[in-house]
Amino acid sequence: RTCVEIVQGHLDRINAYNAQLNAFLTVYDQEALARAAEIDAKIKQGTAGPLAGLVVGIKDLLCYADHPSQAGSQILNGFQSTFSATAVQRLLDADAIIIGRQNCDEFGMGSTNENSSFGPVLNFANTARVAGGSSGGSAVAVQAGMCQVSLGTDTGGSIRMPAAFCGIMGLKPTYGRVSRWGLIAYASSFDTIGPMAHHLEDLALVLKTIEGKDGYDSTVVDDFDTSYASKKKVAYIKEIVEHPSLQPEIRDAFFAHVETLKSAGYEVVSVDFAYIEQLLPTYYVLTTAEASSNLARFDGVKFGHRTADAKDLMELYKKTRDEAFGEEVKRRIMLGTFVLSADYYDAYYTKAQQVRRLIQERTLAILADVDFIISPTTSSTAYKMGEKTLDPLQMYLGDLFTVQANITGLPALSVPMGEDIAGLPMGFQVTGKAFDEQGLIDFAKIFE
Ligand code: GLN
Repeated sequence: RTCVEIVQGHLDRINAYNAQLNAFLTVYDQEALARAAEIDAKIKQGTAGPLAGLVVGIKDLLCYADHPSQAGSQILNGFQSTFSATAVQRLLDADAIIIGRQNCDEFGMGSTNENSSFGPVLNFANTARVAGGSSGGSAVAVQAGMCQVSLGTDTGGSIRMPAAFCGIMGLKPTYGRVSRWGLIAYASSFDTIGPMAHHLEDLALVLKTIEGKDGYDSTVVDDFDTSYASKKKVAYIKEIVEHPSLQPEIRDAFFAHVETLKSAGYEVVSVDFAYIEQLLPTYYVLTTAEASSNLARFDGVKFGHRTADAKDLMELYKKTRDEAFGEEVKRRIMLGTFVLSADYYDAYYTKAQQVRRLIQERTLAILADVDFIISPTTSSTAYKMGEKTLDPLQMYLGDLFTVQANITGLPALSVPMGEDIAGLPMGFQVTGKAFDEQGLIDFAKIFE
């Protein structure tokens, strides 16, 4: 099939389902078709790039030159970036086709996509259920066949959790593998960009395209060593598989996977992890601190929304932020400002940094003895719409299994693990050693 036909096929799916599912905020239909025609011509001439015709959607947290990016927020209403995120630019340079901008929780803050100022995204497996978040639009777009690959972001599970809820694959790369340039920052020491798709090869192909050194992000490295000797040994964390929140069907499906691994010649061991209770507090203290600082730039002066009536500069800042930030974003800014305040900095922020180090050291100690750490991606299948919105702490608890990879910076992959009796998808998560994304992908082929 030609690229034009492939794009048209995805546009047909978008036209059929997007009005209900709310996965795409803007669809670049004419532009995508025009680009597809150009790429078809390049294919004829033998000059097309390695991703020729790959139909990609991008999360609203990523900048795309001369296109809107709003981070799911009203505070960026009207904003168009003058440049593209490095990851987006590299996809374009490889002749991928960007078909649209995808809904997400405001600034990536949420686990259900219900914190988007554009309304929730519906799960295509069951539209009374949430898509997961924060990359919910990106997950459902792939799930419903509206694009082949989505580019999501993962600060605390936002690629893997919606991937699990929607029955697709999602890869959170090692921190420092993919440039964050052009990613609207939430928590800079946690934020990553990664692919979501139906097939492992697509994840590998896209990662290969977007990764690597970039003059705009000094945290990206190329010179890593991944010559890890395979031990044919994996570990699961006892406190996770025994966690009271874990849905029994997910536990059963997980242990069926453990059996598959044993049949494939893997030794599977149970390990202790003493910091299970510290994972979420560490994550939420540090990410709110970073968010309160990162979001200070949205003041009504430089970009996006500006209040219509302000007497002076202070009132301009206050009214703009009050009018255009959502409830959850305000909550995080308040929390972050509190943990960074002079009187409480040592008790919260410094303490959380210390615990972050302990979590990293223990996780690396586990990985020194095995190839991978395996777990369910989430403790339950997709929630009912509205089920968690009244109690933010309940919402935060849903991130328990995913935040360890972000606290430690390690790569983690979620792949489908069948469905529960209600037909809702479940996810299997593999966490690996630094920069061992290829190892994760090769390992997951056992379950493909
Ligand atoms: N649920 C996490 C949070 O709200 C997800 C963050 C993310 O990965 N963007 O912080």
